[in-house]
Amino acid sequence: MELLPAELRAIEPEMVALRRRIHSNPELGFQEHETAALVAERLQGWGYEVHRGVGGTGVVGVLRGSPGPRTLGLRADLDALPINESTGLPWASRKPGLMHACGHDGHTATLLAAARVLGHTRAFDGTLNLIFQPAEEGLGGAQAMLDDGLFERFPCERLYAFHNAPGYAVGLFGFRPGVMYSSSDTAIITVHGVGGHGAMPHRAVDPILAASHLVIALQSIVSREIDPNELAIVTVGAFLAGAAPNVIPPSAELRLTVRARSEVVRAKLRDRITAVAEQQAAVHGARAEVDYRWRYPVTINEREATRFAEGLARELVGEGGLIADLPPGLPSDDFGLMLQRVPGCYFVVGNGIGKGVGEGGCEAHNPGFDFNDAILAPTAGYFVALARRWLQA
Ligand SMILES: [Zn+2]
Ligand SMILES: [Zn+2]
Repeated sequence: MELLPAELRAIEPEMVALRRRIHSNPELGFQEHETAALVAERLQGWGYEVHRGVGGTGVVGVLRGSPGPRTLGLRADLDALPINESTGLPWASRKPGLMHACGHDGHTATLLAAARVLGHTRAFDGTLNLIFQPAEEGLGGAQAMLDDGLFERFPCERLYAFHNAPGYAVGLFGFRPGVMYSSSDTAIITVHGVGGHGAMPHRAVDPILAASHLVIALQSIVSREIDPNELAIVTVGAFLAGAAPNVIPPSAELRLTVRARSEVVRAKLRDRITAVAEQQAAVHGARAEVDYRWRYPVTINEREATRFAEGLARELVGEGGLIADLPPGLPSDDFGLMLQRVPGCYFVVGNGIGKGVGEGGCEAHNPGFDFNDAILAPTAGYFVALARRWLQA
């Protein structure tokens, strides 16, 4: 097998143009109507059975090779971010305040390129499910697809996806068995006091003072209650309270992001944040109300599925073209929810290390980011090889 078969090289310019077209027309999560329509149209044209509206704006393309029991899922994400693009590239966003700053345009176009080659030859046995997921950026698109019966309707024995990785050499494949990305949850803590006159604090219950003690107390959870060998983060990212110097407000609000690399630590953080908030508020005669939002779980790569993917990459790009044991990353991704249902692997492909526009080294979610088109065809070639290898009778 080769990474870049002639059929893929032939369509590369067209698929890069398609990536740029998607880039210039970014859409936020669950609003990817035009992107989803484009994906659906293309898949249909290449002979896929197309299911639209899966989990909102999601699309699933099903392709059957020779009859066989094997099944495989490949997933890409569709959505953009509320960021004002600053790249100045000819294909930059045409929508002020919206941008493909995470490279999901590239993930989508890459999977489409693989879809086209696989649809043309159908040289495999069994069923291939291509999953185009909406709303990865914090809005819960994976959960929406799961709630819509994704894996009941489109059973998959194995599941794979990739994310581009700025800061790694162009086209370098990166794998990591086990914990890949951390969980990401949100806690909104409202501290209810009793509002009053700033000059008569004894007749009020000051929620700002109570919440201030709470910010400090929360920091002791990670430092004193979590095994130092584990990773945990509790960040108070917002503290909202009051408006006037002489008024004690009735309430204060804290907004937290909470990260972990194991589900046990994740659950403990939830329990302790809730207890510390309630009891710390009570010290001051205030009352804390905790709205804890479970968002993205720990993304865990199943070992066997990872070994399989990594072995294939080694065959295609050689030892020097991959990293077999990436350091665990701090981002989070709701692909982790899908990997809770189906064994699989989330791998990365280096987007480049150069800092110039288009050189791929700019961090994602930055207004200067762009997906590196140089990795589109090789990654599509890898997906094609992965599908053909797994879907072998
Ligand atoms: Zn992102
Ligand atoms: Zn992303």
